Amino acid sequence: MITARLTDDNKGIAAAADILKADGVVAIPTETVYGLAASAFSDKAIEKVFIAKGRPQDNPLIVHISDIGMISSAVSEFSPIAKTLADAFWPGPLTLVLKKSERIAESVSRGLDTVAVRMPSHKVAREVIKAAGIPLAAPSANISGSPSPTTADHVIADLDGRIDAVIMSGSSEVGVESTVVSLVTDPPRLLRPGRVTAEELMEYIPNLVIDKAVLSEPEKGEKVASPGMKYKHYSPKTEVLLISGSEEAFADFVNKQENCLAICFTEDEKSLTCDYLSYGAKTDGEAQAKSIFSLLRKADTLGKDKIYIHAPEKTGVSLAVYNRLIRAAAFRVIEL
Ligand code: AMP
Ligand code: MG
Repeated sequence: MITARLTDDNKGIAAAADILKADGVVAIPTETVYGLAASAFSDKAIEKVFIAKGRPQDNPLIVHISDIGMISSAVSEFSPIAKTLADAFWPGPLTLVLKKSERIAESVSRGLDTVAVRMPSHKVAREVIKAAGIPLAAPSANISGSPSPTTADHVIADLDGRIDAVIMSGSSEVGVESTVVSLVTDPPRLLRPGRVTAEELMEYIPNLVIDKAVLSEPEKGEKVASPGMKYKHYSPKTEVLLISGSEEAFADFVNKQENCLAICFTEDEKSLTCDYLSYGAKTDGEAQAKSIFSLLRKADTLGKDKIYIHAPEKTGVSLAVYNRLIRAAAFRVIEL
C-alpha cells in the first residue's frame, strides 16, 4: 500500500474525509499526539487500525467527535456530570468513558458496553471529523508499544505503507495522550492521566478516584478498568530505566555508567559528565509532556546500551509523564 501525504488545508482535509467515508485509515494531527483515524461506525475500518498498529485485541479505541451535536451518535446517555466536564474541558484533551450507543461498531469497544469519547481542540482534527460526518475512532498513530507520534515524520517512520494516508501538519502541542476518566463507575475514576490534571478535574468532581493502574503494574491476570494501561508501552528499542532521586544522587549514578544516555531535567545538566538530553525543568510538566516521546525516539538513534530517565514528579501534568515512563521502563524504577 502506498501511504498518501496530504496537506493540512481544505484540499487535504476533503481527501482525508473521502478515504474515511470509504472505510480507509488516515493519520491526523491532534493536540495530544497524531491519531490513526477510522470510521467508528465500521467494523471493517476498525480492523484495519488494529492490523496497521499491531494493537492488542482487547485494547479499546477512543472515539472523536467534532461538535456536541455528534455526542448522541457515540453514547447512549450523556449524564449531568459528563455535561459538566464537557462544558469545562471540551474541546480539549479529556476523554470520558460513558455507556456506548448502538451505532458505534462493536470492534471499537472490544466487547465492553462502554465507549471512550472526546472532542479534540485541534482545528484540523475537528475539520476532518466534520467533513467525514462520522465520529472517528483514533488511537495513537504508531506501532503498538513504540513511543507515541508527535510529528507526521514519527507516523511515517512507523506506519508508512501500512495506512492509506497521513495529514502532514505541525507537531502536537500537548505531546501525551488525553486524560481518560470513567464516568460509568461511582465515584468517577481517573484511568489515564494527561494534560487535564487530576487537580483540575477535582474542582468539578471532588470524589475522583485515581485508578491503581495509573502508577503501578497490574498483577498478572488482574482485571483492569482501562485495558491499555496493562501493557509495556511507549518504549524505544533501547532499554529504559527510571531513576528516582535527588539531582545529586541522579548525577552520581548516571556519571558512573558506561555508554548510557541520561534523560534529565534542565537543572541536572550542569552535574552530568555523560551524554544527556533534557526534557524540561523539574516542575514544568507541560514542557516534559511535549518533548518526552520525541526524545525517546531520538534516543534510539544514538547507539546507547541504556537510557536512564530522571523520574518526574507524580503531580500535575508530570503525573501523565510518569505514567508513560514507568511503562516505557516496563515498571522498573531504581530508587536512589
Ligand atoms: P490510545 O488509543 O492509544 O490513546 O489508548 C486509548 C486508551 O483508552 C487505552 O488506555 C484504552 O484502554 C482506554 N479506553 C478506550 N476505551 C475504553 C473504555 N470503554 N473503557 C475503559 N478504557 C478505555
Ligand atoms: Mg497509544
